[in-house]
Amino acid sequence: MSTDDGARGDDTGAPKTIFGKILDGELPCHRIYEDEHVLAFLDIFPLSPGHVLVIPKERKAFLHELSDDAAAAIGRVLPRLARAVMRTTGATAYNVLQNNGAAAHQAVFHVHFHIIPKHGDRGLGIAWHPSALAGGDAVALVERIREELE
Ligand code: AMP
Repeated sequence: MSTDDGARGDDTGAPKTIFGKILDGELPCHRIYEDEHVLAFLDIFPLSPGHVLVIPKERKAFLHELSDDAAAAIGRVLPRLARAVMRTTGATAYNVLQNNGAAAHQAVFHVHFHIIPKHGDRGLGIAWHPSALAGGDAVALVERIREELE
């Protein structure tokens, strides 16, 4: 995740991201799958063998900006791609990672899902620092999030 191209690269007129350039054929990729809405290819700095990126052809920086159609198209192929990666690599565990925002480790500002097989120590390392969910907070939070749902 060291390839910050510094651009949103969505369809607002912002400069093209690396993934936008791949979509336009200006940069090569190790293509695994393509359909009308989705492209999947190997990550060039893999955390483990079989690390794959799945991107929508819709040029949005963040997951919450995607249209329902683009999101559905990704959801349709993710399990199929995960199955193929698992069969090919022999991995029995994997993570699907999707970062939004520089603070959340996003380096390329075009929506992408990582499929990252776990091979022993190789794969995604996660620092997870949970806290207890307080009952009152949960009720208020659920109410507010529900109100925000479109
Ligand atoms: P993220 O930190 O979630 O934005 O991850 C961006 C990912 O894109 C990193 O894992 C990079 O290794 C990967 N990446 C950057 N440039 C390319 C490229 N040209 N082809 C394939 N993967 C790339």
